[in-house]
Amino acid sequence: MSAPNIDTIVSLAKRRGFVYPSSEIYGGLGSAWDYGPLGAELCGNVRAAWWRWMVHERDDIEGLDSSIILNRLVWKYSGHEETFTDPLVDCRECNSRFRADKLEQEWAQRWTPGGADGLQVIVIPAGSALRGGKIKCPNCGKTNWTEPRDFNLMFRTHVGATAEDDEDALVYLRPETAQGIFINFLNILNTSRRKLPFGVAQIGKSFRNEVTPGNFIFRTREFEQMEMEYFVRPGEDEQAHQEWIDACRQWFLDIGISAGNLRLYEQPEEELAHYAKRTVDIQYRFFPEREDEERHWDELMGIANRTDFDLKTHSKKPEDAEGKRLNPDSTEDLSYFDEQTKQRFYPYVIEPAAGVNRTVLALLMDAYAEKTNDKGETRVILKLHHSIAPIKVAVLPLAKNKPEIVGMAKAIKRSLQPIMRAVYDDTGGIGKLYARQDEVGTPFCVTVDHQSLEDEAVTVRDRDTWEQERVKVSELPTYLLQRFSPGS
Ligand code: ATP
Repeated sequence: MSAPNIDTIVSLAKRRGFVYPSSEIYGGLGSAWDYGPLGAELCGNVRAAWWRWMVHERDDIEGLDSSIILNRLVWKYSGHEETFTDPLVDCRECNSRFRADKLEQEWAQRWTPGGADGLQVIVIPAGSALRGGKIKCPNCGKTNWTEPRDFNLMFRTHVGATAEDDEDALVYLRPETAQGIFINFLNILNTSRRKLPFGVAQIGKSFRNEVTPGNFIFRTREFEQMEMEYFVRPGEDEQAHQEWIDACRQWFLDIGISAGNLRLYEQPEEELAHYAKRTVDIQYRFFPEREDEERHWDELMGIANRTDFDLKTHSKKPEDAEGKRLNPDSTEDLSYFDEQTKQRFYPYVIEPAAGVNRTVLALLMDAYAEKTNDKGETRVILKLHHSIAPIKVAVLPLAKNKPEIVGMAKAIKRSLQPIMRAVYDDTGGIGKLYARQDEVGTPFCVTVDHQSLEDEAVTVRDRDTWEQERVKVSELPTYLLQRFSPGS
């Protein structure tokens, strides 16, 4: 079972301290969210799982943490100043504003026979159906649209104590973490002495002034990306691309997302970014409540073959047909000398790019389950993978007015905290405490009772089966570590 819709998760997230609307005491700030105590743990676990898988468990990837504010020239030569735009349309009847490409995509999907799983191409019809009057305004149902116009998504700000309109001081908040990797290519190559193929991974905040943010943490203006740029020899790019597509899909399965809620989507040519040779998205079933099966799905991550575009565009050497430098501002050449073939070239780049926030949303939706207890009461259980669960174990005293029991429970919590996220809770009866931990996905509860004082043993309760087992306190850390699934 997974959540029937995002609203179920919004209410659970707020109730239990995963995610709150941001700036709420001042009326909020459209589509900005703050991660509460459990949300901060959950995001941290997603980042840690990705980093472990991407960097620590491989031999060919380095890590990086680059600046959010970069020299403006980075965004000039990457093409973002000119092309990082969304086409905007306004409804002339109700003044609502939408992304023209999304309206057209949704319209096209409705008219494309859908298949459930696997690779699928959705063809968007040539010409604007919007202008043809075929697409209705989702707000008022009319078809009176303005012409689409481009809107740049980068947030602008100024560095230093300069005037607001000083163009020389203009900078952008990065809209992707990738460019920080490309401009450090030589630094990493020289300091790590890497040979192709190798990759550089980065996790960090990105900013996009999205036209239509929404659907909770699915699309926000400030979000976090987990990106890796994998540098390969030209000609080896297609195979490497396919390998990363398969590996990324497997990673989502490994952190607990069910196969039936994932699919691959091959971007058609007209959707590809200007630098991309091929891009495949991993989509998640974020909208199971929608009547039309095709509209259940949206992007969880993208895996692009960016060719040699980025390293070339930031290099000082490439010239146009008249021998003029294409980038007169760069001071370096980001090419690679291959010792084997004695050739110099610009490596191709494969980029798996995922969002921390969309991954968190997919995990919460996928883990959501309901179970009925002996009394016929329905309980929510978040069946999060052990490695992702914000709390790994809760230690609960059966009687909070018995100092010996409380003391023993607190001591057990302290003994577990160096090896796993453990909490102590005595703020309710045992039934309520179990229900609370189930609802936030804690895999195990440890209960200290009167008998524990005699036999130095505790009851361990499993979140998913509700089965209980008696375990010696001295054996508890080893027992729990054994019960955790790999990667926890
Ligand atoms: P979309 O088509 O949904 O706007 P995109 O194709 O522009 O996404 P990428 O540039 O490929 O997204 O970014 C990689 C990943 O970063 C996305 O798959 C998504 O998980 C995340 N991401 C991108 N934009 C946002 C956003 N506004 N809010 C939250 N996550 C985002």
